[in-house]
Amino acid sequence: MAPDSIRIHSAAWVVPVDGAPIRNGGVAEKDGMLLEVGETARLGRQYPGATVNEHRRMALTPALVNAHIHLELSHLAALAASPLDTAFTGWINRLLQLRDRLGATGELAEQAARRIAENQYRSGIGLLADIGNTGIGRSLAASFPGQLLPFAEYLGLAERSLAKNMQRLAQEDDAALCSGHAPYSTHPRLLRRLKERARTLGHVFPIHTAEPAAEGEMIREGRGEMVEFIRQRGFWDGSFVPRGSGGTIHYFRDLGLLDSRTLCIHAIHVTDEEIRIMAGEGVKVCLCPGSNQFLRTGTPPVRAYLDHGMLPALGTDSSASNPRLSLWREMRLLAMAHPAVQAAEIFRMATLGGAQALGMDRHLGTLAAGKKADLLAVPLPEDVENEEQLYRFLVEHGEQAELDRILQ
Ligand SMILES: [Zn+2]
Repeated sequence: MAPDSIRIHSAAWVVPVDGAPIRNGGVAEKDGMLLEVGETARLGRQYPGATVNEHRRMALTPALVNAHIHLELSHLAALAASPLDTAFTGWINRLLQLRDRLGATGELAEQAARRIAENQYRSGIGLLADIGNTGIGRSLAASFPGQLLPFAEYLGLAERSLAKNMQRLAQEDDAALCSGHAPYSTHPRLLRRLKERARTLGHVFPIHTAEPAAEGEMIREGRGEMVEFIRQRGFWDGSFVPRGSGGTIHYFRDLGLLDSRTLCIHAIHVTDEEIRIMAGEGVKVCLCPGSNQFLRTGTPPVRAYLDHGMLPALGTDSSASNPRLSLWREMRLLAMAHPAVQAAEIFRMATLGGAQALGMDRHLGTLAAGKKADLLAVPLPEDVENEEQLYRFLVEHGEQAELDRILQ
């Protein structure tokens, strides 16, 4: 190993995420891989020929993970430009109408998606999980400078759509990542098949989970706002069998959907018993505070997830339900809504939580030997003197910081 190809990045603070922040710390890196993380003085002695890049009054952190976005809805930003004055199903109606008018694909949709993907990268996202059904995410994955995982979304609740969806799924390439939209929009047999396929291929399986409260009513009783909406759209054919009791997680368990590679997105309306089931199966959760706030779908039980040993991921969701797609803002909104959750825990969600949720924590999510050297250098104010102030600054003010990306 030629010592002169080793580079040390030093800074006022290094935030490894899986250990305490290191004052006057650094990372040694070679060919884009981290060799070591520690105090700069020690790294300097260990790698005497290394080039040293000093990032003086800054914090070095791992790149962030946005575990849930729909890039193909980026051109529908008008939907979230002013506060919502309708229910969840009213918002879906508006989304479908606007998309009919502007087109689901084409120049406008593609340009808006590309712009959002570029902004995501600039704002510090190293890993982005996109869900869509137009192929726009897939086409952007190749040019995204970090890693973009494009999931093809399946939906269709009515029996009559089942055969076509099963056929389409059977024709997918083994490398294609697939997701189910939501329990209220996707036939149970299709969900079961999607999960079986993902399990066989070792893929993560994301699904919108317990987002509107009306989903539980549909699953238990087969009625309510969601059922009325589906009926009006002509997809309620009577084939859905309500459980009579329980909620979305019980329903998923019955379908065999739950394991450590299932990613439940939103996961707002779940009971303590359902959280115990999720924790027991190692299920992952992705929280989207900005989207939940805009759609007024409720507040997820974040403290309970953490107390059950789960580390949620964070996601922005799309421009159609969130006026600003910044994971830093998601951290701040979560901190404001959950004073009992510490800033260090929130920063862990935005990095390691996302990497675990997407099955990428061997490569990303913390600063440790053997991981990818995708670092952020975040300028710090003078008065950051201890760990707590450091995490509070990152969570509460990170969105305004003019950060640098360091990717070798
Ligand atoms: Zn979503």
